[in-house]
Amino acid sequence: MTSVRSALDGLPAQSSPVDGAPEADVTVAPSSFDEVGAILDTASEHHLRTLIWGGGTHQGYGGRLDPVVVLSTAGLDRVVDFQPEDLTVTVEAGVRVSDLEDLLAGHNLTAALPETPGNASVGGVVSAGISGWRRARYGPTRERLLEVNLVTGDGRQVRGGGRVVKNVTGFDLPRLATGSFGSLGVIVQVCLKLWPLPSARGCVTVADGDAALAAAYRPQAVIECDGTTRVYLGGTPEEVEGQSAALGADPVEGWDWPEDPAGEVQWSLRVPPALLRTAIKEVRGKYSYQAALGVGELRMAGDEGDVSALRTWAESVGGALVLVDGPPGLYERIDPWGTPPPSLSIQNRIVQRFDPVRILNPGRLPGGL
Ligand SMILES: Cc1cc2nc3c(=O)[nH]c(=O)nc-3n(C[C@H](O)[C@H](O)[C@H](O)COP(=O)(O)OP(=O)(O)OC[C@H]3O[C@@H](n4cnc5c(N)ncnc54)[C@H](O)[C@@H]3O)c2cc1C
Repeated sequence: MTSVRSALDGLPAQSSPVDGAPEADVTVAPSSFDEVGAILDTASEHHLRTLIWGGGTHQGYGGRLDPVVVLSTAGLDRVVDFQPEDLTVTVEAGVRVSDLEDLLAGHNLTAALPETPGNASVGGVVSAGISGWRRARYGPTRERLLEVNLVTGDGRQVRGGGRVVKNVTGFDLPRLATGSFGSLGVIVQVCLKLWPLPSARGCVTVADGDAALAAAYRPQAVIECDGTTRVYLGGTPEEVEGQSAALGADPVEGWDWPEDPAGEVQWSLRVPPALLRTAIKEVRGKYSYQAALGVGELRMAGDEGDVSALRTWAESVGGALVLVDGPPGLYERIDPWGTPPPSLSIQNRIVQRFDPVRILNPGRLPGGL
């Protein structure tokens, strides 16, 4: 049997280490699905723990990894098929969100991906199941993903969905892949649904966010940041003006999206939308926070503190308090996801079918899967 060292030396697409990634024996940056397949086939044969690295902006979710291989998606950077009239675009997973949105904006379109993405890749956003601030307007990421191509943990190439809006027969693989945190395979390519970019964009600051949410007609987002609430509006210039008048305030032109709240430890508190106001009361004054009204997600940051009572409350109402980032020691003291879901054993069996020897991001999912 080949030794692990010679298997590592034989991996295709070797590259220099990626900035910010944990140390590994080897870093690879494949530029084709076949190369990803060959790497994962070898990694599975030799049980090599493999960390998938997109833009590295949100590697703090879930268990920390001590990888043998870092697989960067930076080489998978092509726009494969752009159909402005069909409102679809197909891109490889390593395409940067900001590059894609710039390309689309040139055609007055958007994929409504996260608004302040930094270096984030499209594959990373799908893998982390991130929907961005405009979720209430455009729906969650899983509903905007029309087709996905995955390379499974043992190197098989799988495709699910299709490039038309009504396409699902059998299991809905795109939904399964969204939020899978690399546990099923490397997402190598996705086809996304698009929307026209509103010709006018504006923001108004309001005193009562809940009243504004009820009064505004299909706003892009209503976000409360540390007590200040802004309504993000889009449409024709007349629509933005009319909406602002209905909210009783003058609009500031453009969308000024908030950056993530600053603090040593970052959390995402998820509750039913109707309980978001209660959640805000729980964290106000203790953490810096941003809450998406109408969505039920609150991002908060601060010192380590004791979050057990908040987590117990969130879980008691069907929500969760998820650790997004923090110092390494914190991951040893606290489960980053909280109580594992009741469907853990089924999830485990699904993961086994895609990644039989469990080499991809092992331990990252809830329940240490
Ligand atoms: C609650 C929450 C809400 C957010 N909302 C917003 C927002 O509104 N606006 C905004 O700008 N940003 C938002 N973000 C951040 C943004 O979405 C992330 O930066 C992005 O998801 C990470 O992309 P990345 O390429 O940096 O992936 P990485 O940080 O490199 O990876 C993230 C995870 O996905 C895995 N992964 C990466 N690529 C692949 C792949 N191709 N196949 C399989 N697995 C892969 C990684 O192993 C890792 O587990 C949010 C983050 C949080 C915590």
